[in-house]
Amino acid sequence: MSTYLDHAATTPMRPEAVDAMVPFLGERFGNPSGSHAVAREAKKALEDAREIVASALGARPGEVVFTGGGTEADNLAVLGRHAVQRGSLVCTAIEHHAVLHACAAAGEQRLAPVGSDGVVDLDALGDLLDGDVSVVSVMLANNEVGTIQPFADVAALVRERAPGAVLHTDAVQAFPWLDVASLAAAADMVAVSAHKFGGPKGVGALVVRDGVKVAPIIHGGGQERDRRSGTYNVAGIAGMAAAMQATVADRRETVRRVSALRDRLADGLISAVPGAVESGDRLRKVAGNCHLSFEGVEAEALLVLLDGAGICASAGSACTSGAVEPSHVLTAMGVPPERAVGALRLSLGVTTTEADVELALDAVPSAVARLRSS
Ligand code: PLP
Repeated sequence: MSTYLDHAATTPMRPEAVDAMVPFLGERFGNPSGSHAVAREAKKALEDAREIVASALGARPGEVVFTGGGTEADNLAVLGRHAVQRGSLVCTAIEHHAVLHACAAAGEQRLAPVGSDGVVDLDALGDLLDGDVSVVSVMLANNEVGTIQPFADVAALVRERAPGAVLHTDAVQAFPWLDVASLAAAADMVAVSAHKFGGPKGVGALVVRDGVKVAPIIHGGGQERDRRSGTYNVAGIAGMAAAMQATVADRRETVRRVSALRDRLADGLISAVPGAVESGDRLRKVAGNCHLSFEGVEAEALLVLLDGAGICASAGSACTSGAVEPSHVLTAMGVPPERAVGALRLSLGVTTTEADVELALDAVPSAVARLRSS
C-alpha cells in the first residue's frame, strides 16, 4: 500500500458518497428532465442534492448550478459573466489555471500580486480596481501552498473601488477545511469541485447569487435555468452532496486532527533536511498543506525516489506537474527559481494517519540527501 500524500490533487471517495451514488448507477437511472415516474424519481434526488449543496455553501437552492467539475465552474464564472458584462478581469497571480487561463481568454487581464507569504497584496489589488472592471476572482485557498486569502477584506475593497464588478471565488481547495458558507458569504459566485472533498471526479458546482446573470458556456437543452445545458450527472451530484454533508459534519474534528499531523510532518522535515524552507505562513494555510522547498534538488527526481519508497506526492499542483518550469505560484511569491524547482507538496486528507507521516519523515530526508550527493 502506498502512503498517499497528494490529497490536494484528489482525495479518496467518502463511503457515504459511494453509497449515495450506487442506486443512480442502477435501478434509479432516470433523466431528471423528463416528466414520468422514473424521471421524477431522479428529479427528486437532484433537488434533494441541490438543497444540501446550497446549505453547505450558504446559498439558496436556486443559486446552485451543477457543473462538470471545478474547472468548468471557474470557466462559467469568468467567461459566463464576462459575456454579460464586458470589462477588465482582475485575479490574483496565484489562481488555478482554470481561472487564470479563463481570464486571459476573456479579455484584458490584471494580475494582483501576492507577498512572500502567498497572501494577496490588498493595496496592489486596490490599485487594479476601477469602474472598467467586470470580474474579480480571488481564490479562498491556494492549491499549491495552501494559503488562505483574506476574502472579507477583498470583498470590501471590490465593493468600494469597483462596485460594478462581480466577485468570484474559487473555493475548490478551501471546502475540505474551511467554512465556505461564511467565508465566501460576500462573493457573488463560488466554485467547488466534488473530488477534492470525497465526492466523485467530474462534478462540481457554481453558486451564482440571485440577481447575478451569467451566460451559458455550454449550450443545449437549457438545464440549470439555462445556465448549464447537458443531461444531469445524477449519480455524481448525489455523491457530491453526500460528500459535502460528511465533510461539513466532521470538518472541525478533521482540521484539528490533520493540522496536528501536518505540523508534525512539516516541523520534522524542516529539522531533518538542512536548508528546507516552508512555503507560506503556516497560520494562514489550510490544515492539509505541507509545502517545502529544497535547494540543490529537482522535484521531479525527488518524486521518483519518493514513489519508489511508496510515497505519492506532488511537485506543485497536479495539473502542472511534469513541467520543469518553476510554478507560477512560487514565482509570484518571489521564491528563487533554483529553490522553486525543488518544491515538494505533501497534502494530507481525511484518511491520513500517523503512520503516513512517519513514513514521509523517514523517506523524504534520505531522498533529498541522496539527490544532493549524486
Ligand atoms: N481550482 C483549484 C484551486 C483546484 O485545485 C482545481 C483542481 O486541482 C481546480 C480548480 C479544478 O477542479 P477540477 O479538477 O474539478 O476541474
